[in-house]
Amino acid sequence: MDETRSAHVDSLQQACDTIRDTSPFLEPVIEAFRGIITRRELLKTAIQERPDAVAGLQSRGPSPDGHPRLTRKDIAALVDPWSGTVRSALETLKAFPGIRQEIERTVEALDQGGVDLNACMESLVEGRQDDTAAAAGRIGIPPAAFEFILGQILKPFVEKRTEKLRAHVSDMPWHRGCCPVCGEMPELSFLQGEEGQRRLRCSLCGHDWRFDRMACPYCAEKHADREIISIETEPNRWAEMCPSCRRYIVAADLRAGCPDAIAVAALGMVHLDMIAQARGYAPVAACAWNLVPPPASDVKRNANRTYM
Ligand SMILES: [Zn+2]
Ligand SMILES: [Zn+2]
Repeated sequence: MDETRSAHVDSLQQACDTIRDTSPFLEPVIEAFRGIITRRELLKTAIQERPDAVAGLQSRGPSPDGHPRLTRKDIAALVDPWSGTVRSALETLKAFPGIRQEIERTVEALDQGGVDLNACMESLVEGRQDDTAAAAGRIGIPPAAFEFILGQILKPFVEKRTEKLRAHVSDMPWHRGCCPVCGEMPELSFLQGEEGQRRLRCSLCGHDWRFDRMACPYCAEKHADREIISIETEPNRWAEMCPSCRRYIVAADLRAGCPDAIAVAALGMVHLDMIAQARGYAPVAACAWNLVPPPASDVKRNANRTYM
């Protein structure tokens, strides 16, 4: 691992320690995800850059029509279906004992050619849930587990291969709640800089962008009197609820934190996820840690996919 990435992993570990020390009741969540997040950094070192693909995407120029840089097909194509990284990503997921059997069945299906990973990735990112469910049925695992597994395979490839692209779009004007790079929804809203600028962090590629302080990232409605959930002892963390679309997003004031705190900040607010979902709101982006059973009321929660 190169020095920069190694320092990055150390810094992620420290950010996890800070959350655990501040909120000891979150220790099980932090410890479950700490390994996944740091091992993903290791996986990314094994993924080769795709300079040609990124150069091609950059040459598309700015996006005045408000479309994200990557199409759904571009995103699916970022995965090398036969690479060792896919196997390593699956191994990493065994840290979640609840889906070990599902992972083993997926590995078996890949070994025996019983599943076309490329096609499954396309179904996932294009939101064709019936196709993903059919593939899950062939493997013999629940569709939700298969979507989760596919999302986890996809994420390191997208994070690594959009790194250069993210830098390219960072000074581009963008006013939407979805990510300007990959089009996914944000997992976190945070305040940064002296003036407390509001930014959103993408749940898939990790890019962050400036966003209107009052608007809902999901439906763009502005509500001056929207409901905020927070607990007294944690004034720097809260959840913002939208009465129009019944979605919520967790938010943090990160003006005093290290830059890597952004990558793990949402993990430190799982208790707010639970409160928000108990009140019948669904997350703006479904992430591995905010899938709190039972599903939130009548809101169709799987309209967006599951990454972490
Ligand atoms: Zn993104
Ligand atoms: Zn909304």
